[in-house]
Amino acid sequence: MSLAEELAAVYGTPLYVYDLDEVAAARRALFDALPEEFGVFYAFKANPHPEIARTLREDDARACGAEISSTGELTAALTAGYRGAEILYTGPGKTTAEVAAAIGQGVRKFSVESLSDLRRVGSVAVGRGVVVDCLLRVNSASASATTSIRMTGTPSQFGIDSETLAELAPRLTSVPGTRIAGAHLFPLSNAKDEESLIAEFRHTIEVAARVQRDVGCAFRFLDIGGGFAMPYAVPGERPGYGKLRAELTAALDVHFPDRRANGLRVFCESGRYLVGGCGELVASVVNVKESRGRKFVILDAGINTFGGMSGLGRLLPVAVRPREGAEPGDTESASLVGPLCTPGDLLGREISLPRLASGDLVTIPNAGAYGVTASLLMFLGRPAPTEVAVRGGEVVSVSRLEHHRVHGEVR
Ligand SMILES: *Cc1c(COP(=O)(O)O)cnc(C)c1O
Repeated sequence: MSLAEELAAVYGTPLYVYDLDEVAAARRALFDALPEEFGVFYAFKANPHPEIARTLREDDARACGAEISSTGELTAALTAGYRGAEILYTGPGKTTAEVAAAIGQGVRKFSVESLSDLRRVGSVAVGRGVVVDCLLRVNSASASATTSIRMTGTPSQFGIDSETLAELAPRLTSVPGTRIAGAHLFPLSNAKDEESLIAEFRHTIEVAARVQRDVGCAFRFLDIGGGFAMPYAVPGERPGYGKLRAELTAALDVHFPDRRANGLRVFCESGRYLVGGCGELVASVVNVKESRGRKFVILDAGINTFGGMSGLGRLLPVAVRPREGAEPGDTESASLVGPLCTPGDLLGREISLPRLASGDLVTIPNAGAYGVTASLLMFLGRPAPTEVAVRGGEVVSVSRLEHHRVHGEVR
């Protein structure tokens, strides 16, 4: 039995198992792939589990900062030991209350997505008697590599259109309570290979230099986004990025030659690369049935537990590992579905599966990112899956998220 299966026998299913040693290894791999001078922000939305977040912060020299976008993620970051100064607050819909909560906890770096967003952050900062560093999130008019999720170049709720920056500059740089510290670009997620990742970063760095010229002040922070890839729910390894470090340094030398003198700090962001590989989801087969010649394998884990995004038509090519002792090649075509009362609860349509029977365990690999919190947790009212964190083969944490209704005065 694998460790995950052993743990499922103890804690039941559906069960997420996170290997914290793998989180630490991914963090080291990412820092190794980047120039020495780089910092990394961990995108909490990938997985806000406190042990995972703590593991990303535990190395003094190569600790990730926290990239958060809600008060829930703020709490998650603080719980994991992050201090306000290590946090970057982002998002297109920051409310006054959220910004106040973040500033109250010592957050002093905000990515702002419009002049009005900047002014909102500024007015809260003024009320608190502080000045905060703002990174202008930029929606570049031009794009480079082809990517799985495109976020720039088109009309978007994200970022300030790059072609408007020069004209906006006097207003952007004179908002009380704020200081324009630099730019934030995030044009790409899950790059298909190292070449496209490098092409995107080169382009981003060039755009950032133009933004600096348009805004007319020397940057102290530059966040060039991410795109570091990771297989999702299918077997596979973290990609290696052997050429990236030299390419990033070269691009920065061209476009930000004075960065050391100016004290510029450069950051990347990642969610899936850092934590995708640390997690497996173990589920039980509840039932196997046939309908009109097609087979359905019904699990106790559906889109309430994993891959809630598949409801957006982004069906995952889920793979499950055969149970121990199954004949290799003993597979059949079947649909892998969850227990919810909706035909949308589909993890895989007519995919190749090991021959499964009621009571069997299946394991979905590379499920550490966009698992629990990217699922439709509340839909149909099933309990959230149990989450176990393991370090050195030993269980260090067992927990389960719980929702409950609060009556009366709710704020
Ligand atoms: C979601 C997100 C990330 C993380 O993306 P991954 O593909 O998981 O690395 C990073 N930065 C921002 C601004 C994001 O919205």
